[in-house]
Amino acid sequence: MKKRILIIGAAGQIGTELTMYLRGIYGNHKVIASDITEASEEIIKTGPFEILDAMDYDAIQDVVINYEITDVYLMAAMLSATAEKFPMKAWNLNMNSLFNILNLARDGKIDRIFWPSSIAVFGPTTTKENTPQHSIMEPSTVYGISKQTGERWCEYYHNKYGVDVRSVRYPGLISYKTQPGGGTTDYAVDIYHKALKHKKYICFLNEENTLPMMFMDDAIRATVNIMLAAPEDVKIRNAYNLAAMSFNPKQITESIQKHIPDFKIKYELDFRQDIADSWPQSIDDSLARKDWGWEPEIDLDEMTKIMIENLKGAY
Ligand code: NAD
Repeated sequence: MKKRILIIGAAGQIGTELTMYLRGIYGNHKVIASDITEASEEIIKTGPFEILDAMDYDAIQDVVINYEITDVYLMAAMLSATAEKFPMKAWNLNMNSLFNILNLARDGKIDRIFWPSSIAVFGPTTTKENTPQHSIMEPSTVYGISKQTGERWCEYYHNKYGVDVRSVRYPGLISYKTQPGGGTTDYAVDIYHKALKHKKYICFLNEENTLPMMFMDDAIRATVNIMLAAPEDVKIRNAYNLAAMSFNPKQITESIQKHIPDFKIKYELDFRQDIADSWPQSIDDSLARKDWGWEPEIDLDEMTKIMIENLKGAY
């Protein structure tokens, strides 16, 4: 089938890597990157790039028609830590961008949507260990509320209008190619940079704060694989639980110390600790494994090796 893909939010942490990965699969000119801000040189040089506001329905529709887009990956959002500072802005962006894309699909202008949810849909009353797919969901953050609401609308549009929307609940994502965009798990990227640069890191979460995490390559594979799955195999139309590993700041420190023995961590907690306290520690992703064959590949020590190998040249 002829696919032409639009990525909205292609300059972000995930969008940057997703764009290059999809261009590798479908061909550079079949994957249109867009963002409200300039993307990396690599993205602009290798294929089409458009400045596009995810809030502007007419502008998105123009791009969809001009490039004969079939699939949209909506990656634009305001993340957890930033959303606590700008609640209404976060709500407007996270919800209206989703409605724009769901409505395009409802009206038959695109065939398939990927929209990411997050472990932030869970809240303090959710079982923290091996959190099931179907669980109590009482998110206590602006971001979590927007993601949970988004999930409900995705399922509604699928059931009511037959919209082919697919989603996963990403855990915290770690990459060396791009910086994170204002989330609560950002520490797990920053710690590698600071370990290489200063051999010390001041962490805003406490040492025992275990959270579900994933290396970016696994997240990109999950994203592309759920989009490639046969429609009948995608049985959950709100969002699939997805997992790879769980660790706390103490454990990532020990993993880094295997490469940088004199690396030291100190703790100075801030408001992000409250957000982290409300999230699960580990996730049961058995339905993603069963329905569309999800399988993570990279664990903490393997990730540390990759991060350090790829970042050490920069410092
Ligand atoms: P990011 O902040 O790095 O990137 C988001 C991009 O969206 C940025 O490039 C930004 O310029 C763009 N953007 C913001 N407002 C826009 C607008 N009005 N129009 C067009 N573009 C706009 O975020 P990310 O980490 O790449 O996350 C992508 C998606 O994945 C988000 O929905 C996020 O909630 C979700 N997610 C991310 C993580 C993670 O750890 N990174 C975890 C769970 C879920």
